Amino acid sequence: MKLTFRPLDLKLKHTFRIARETRTIQNNIILLLQDNDEGVGLGEAAPTSYFGEDVSSVTKVLVQSDSILRHSDPFQIEDITNHLKNEFPKSAAARASIDIALHDIIGKKLQIPVYRLLGLNRPESKLTSFTIGIDTLEKMIKKVEEAKDFPILKIKVGFKGDIEILRELRKITRAVFRVDANTGWTPEEAIKKLNLMEDLDVELVEQPFPVGSIESLRQIRRYVKIPVFLDEDIKDSKDIPAFSGVVDGINIKLMKCGGIREALRMISTARAHGLKIMVGCNIESSVSVTAAAHLTSLVDYIDLDGHLLVTNDPYLGATVDKGRLTVPSGNGLGVEARGSVSQQTM
Ligand code: MG
Repeated sequence: MKLTFRPLDLKLKHTFRIARETRTIQNNIILLLQDNDEGVGLGEAAPTSYFGEDVSSVTKVLVQSDSILRHSDPFQIEDITNHLKNEFPKSAAARASIDIALHDIIGKKLQIPVYRLLGLNRPESKLTSFTIGIDTLEKMIKKVEEAKDFPILKIKVGFKGDIEILRELRKITRAVFRVDANTGWTPEEAIKKLNLMEDLDVELVEQPFPVGSIESLRQIRRYVKIPVFLDEDIKDSKDIPAFSGVVDGINIKLMKCGGIREALRMISTARAHGLKIMVGCNIESSVSVTAAAHLTSLVDYIDLDGHLLVTNDPYLGATVDKGRLTVPSGNGLGVEARGSVSQQTM
């Protein structure tokens, strides 16, 4: 297989702020894997500095992966992804781009969609949440108004005054709220705020504390009814058992875990520990969001809106209408370059 890649700088519709950072552009990489002129697999890496990756580290891994992939058969996906994990254990987003492209290429060769390749039915259209980043009250109100078609909103919290803003937002929408503190709270704050949030119809809370705060998580469980999900704490399947019985669920992202193969292992591991599962994403184009969408028949909650937060997604794949995510039925990922699709409105 021949590997080529190029940068993809995604422009955010709104400056994206969460508890620890602010961004206006997300620098990703699009990967093309070509197998003897027979087919091209598309992949994407959406690296985040939080997990120690960026465009230059992804580039390095892809350049070094070329020698592994050059003489490989794409159907040896387990071998290839294990090999890459041993070589580049900390480069999950880079590895995810290759894993996604391998699934795309195999699906195209077999002329079946990725979900069928995985032995799954075509996922039913299910609701995804839509993310509202941290901002001034006025701007957050405007964002919620703009998102009026979405029945589920994921609201970023984890800052001073978050509960007051949430109260104001509750006045203008009946959408389900999920909140994500992105490690921003202390246990005292979490107990106080989550108790207040029970009256604001908050369905679940994600990552209240810094990574590794297992005792704090145990502690709040005694005082808080809202289900607690972990994101930053859970990179891949090996991180799951430690939180068995401590939290209610986990957020799986291809960019954290290294791709579809590992996401499937995470799903099995989480189920074995009685945990609920959300599938989420970073700020990504339709390439990798669609890859994650192929897994949605296996999960309880969907947070796949990365491609909706940007203005220049060059691809079309999983679509969202009134919050409902539909997985394409084309071969492989079912993703097309926008320019190549006729009669599509941009
Ligand atoms: Mg999160």
